[in-house]
Amino acid sequence: MEILMLSSEVTPFAKTGGLADVVGSLPPYLEEHACKTCVMMPYYRQVARGRFDIKPTGHAVSVPVRDRMVSGEIMEGCINSSVPIYFIRQDDYYDREGLYGTPEGDHEDNCERFVFFARAALQAAKILGLKPDLVHCHDWQTALVPVYLRTTHSRDPELSRAATLLTIHNLAYQGLFWHLDMPLIGLDWSYFTPEYLEYYEKINLLKGSIVFSTLINTVSEKYSREIQTVEYGCGLEGVLANRRKDLYGVLNGVDYSQWNPETDEFITARYSHDDLSGKKKCKAALQKMCGLPVRNVPLIGCISRLADQKGFDLIVGVADDIMALDIQVVILGTGEQRYHDLLKKMGRKYPGKMSVNIKFDNRLAHQIEAGSDMFLMPSRYEPCGLNQLYSLKYGAVPIVRSTGGLADTITNCVPSKLKVGKANGFAFREYDGAKLLAAIRKAVQVYSDGRAWKRLMVNGMKQDWSWSRSAGEYAKLYRKAVDKHRKYLESRSGAATDVA
Ligand code: ADP
Repeated sequence: MEILMLSSEVTPFAKTGGLADVVGSLPPYLEEHACKTCVMMPYYRQVARGRFDIKPTGHAVSVPVRDRMVSGEIMEGCINSSVPIYFIRQDDYYDREGLYGTPEGDHEDNCERFVFFARAALQAAKILGLKPDLVHCHDWQTALVPVYLRTTHSRDPELSRAATLLTIHNLAYQGLFWHLDMPLIGLDWSYFTPEYLEYYEKINLLKGSIVFSTLINTVSEKYSREIQTVEYGCGLEGVLANRRKDLYGVLNGVDYSQWNPETDEFITARYSHDDLSGKKKCKAALQKMCGLPVRNVPLIGCISRLADQKGFDLIVGVADDIMALDIQVVILGTGEQRYHDLLKKMGRKYPGKMSVNIKFDNRLAHQIEAGSDMFLMPSRYEPCGLNQLYSLKYGAVPIVRSTGGLADTITNCVPSKLKVGKANGFAFREYDGAKLLAAIRKAVQVYSDGRAWKRLMVNGMKQDWSWSRSAGEYAKLYRKAVDKHRKYLESRSGAATDVA
């Protein structure tokens, strides 16, 4: 089966979060399931400045955007020296700071940038002679592609045969734009209704894609159920519930070639669950690096986008109680300015106990995983979460709020579960600072029992959260979508527009 995967970010080329890691690591695993994949993404400044082996293909695209034609270039590279990746180069749109915006806010022309990408990607597929059985789109940035394939391109001889899968990595980001962008998108106003793309007088790209995609999935089972509720549905719970029969949950996998303390080149010493001596060295190195005294106290790491989603309001709310414990904390993150300010202030208040690093730094992220005893992730919601899975492998025991993918992967430390090798972290349910504090206190207490702690760490380190499991789930979904789409094509009458 031929798969065309479209994403706005792909590791190692450009990344703001977990989406990039997923698209950068899943395709090679799909090959084992007879799915031949190629990927497309924009050619951002970050990509151009990275030292990647990317060459022009010699092909150009030219697509309508509003009332003019915009052209771009198709570039070519490789993921893991096996999977082709094509880049759409259009410097006016992509050669700038930030993938989607800067700390001051989103780029104002994001709608135009990703309308162009969607159209250019479809044209590039034709120019390159790709004949995908399925187009796999990720998040709002590529959400228009399934819409185009069932509207403007529904009679396209090469592309209309492709089924579509929309993967929602985070429902909170929907691609909302004002209604006057309809002509920019190039769709007839008849699609600006609540049945299709309209959402309270705005255009909602993700909603359109939920309506038109053959199948939809989120990145954990639990999140796929949660988003059908008012609490987690971000206003789209009704649209999602309407498509519940076509909505699945597939847990993200970890790329252990990147995230494994036995082979990690970023960390001071290598270690495994059989021999943890290297972890002590990594902890001491992290303490030195972050200006913390080298002491045997629990070191709590936290690597995150600094956004409400990640539970920073909870952390800030009970920070003084947390810091009253005999612990050390290392935080690495970037995001909302108010969290930059709040966390920096906390760092100044607790010198020698708390290290706050406001930046995006992959090397430091690896060093924190390796040097931490515990990893903090009290998310308000979490579609999957990768950091808790990396932490398990590095023996940094996760302390999480039990929601979405965190609920699907972290089993709370109670004696019965610890004994049978299941417990791998600390989990609390209610989104409440007192509950977070209680979970941290419990972790600190278990840490003081060396044997129990080692067992808990080793439980997590031994677990396998690799793509080997989840890639097979995606292959099954692809087949299901292709079957469904084939039946739909067979039954299609003369209508020019069809909803999946
Ligand atoms: P999300 O995709 O919601 O941001 P995930 O846990 O799924 O959260 O993935 C986050 C990814 O981004 C991880 O690979 C994590 O290490 C990385 N990351 C987040 N913030 C930073 C940062 N400031 N520096 C380096 N890596 C970061």
